[in-house]
Amino acid sequence: MSLQRPPSWTTQAACLGATSGDRDPWSPDDDAPRAVREAEYALARGVCAGCPVRLSCAVEALEHAIPDGMWGGLTPEDRRRVALRHGFPLPGAAQHGTRSLYVAGCRCRDCRHAHASYERARRAAVRERAEAAARVPAPVWITAPDRLAGAHAGQGVLPGFDLPGAA
Ligand code: SF4
Ligand SMILES: [Zn+2]
Repeated sequence: MSLQRPPSWTTQAACLGATSGDRDPWSPDDDAPRAVREAEYALARGVCAGCPVRLSCAVEALEHAIPDGMWGGLTPEDRRRVALRHGFPLPGAAQHGTRSLYVAGCRCRDCRHAHASYERARRAAVRERAEAAARVPAPVWITAPDRLAGAHAGQGVLPGFDLPGAA
């Protein structure tokens, strides 16, 4: 699921503006050595510890199975443990209300809805292509050669276009 608007608690996030340049301790580089990632997360965890919206932040990540980064002081590994213990979807798990989960076999209301909107958009695109194709005018076939116009029998000319060589 993609959020239309950031939830209201984000305005109080202690991490707002706490990152500089490319460095973001809440999302350390995946390729960095584990020790470096841990050190970055430790920095972020210190800020999260004093954040007034820590619980909302953690719950947000848990409910939406957010796979990456630190949320509410929890790394993805921490969230995986919490999710297993408390029945949240595992981080990175496909979300209901997506067509991919429908294709994978889920028939819950949200997934059926996501699939239906996908199909509606697909049918609209097919219809639009067919209508665009129908708008292309049929050619007029020349049956008698026309020297002056330079047209010869069997040649197709689109209506509205001058014959080649015609004045
Ligand atoms: S808990 Fe941490 S990640 Fe969440 S808003 Fe606060 S500072 Fe940011
Ligand atoms: Zn579903």
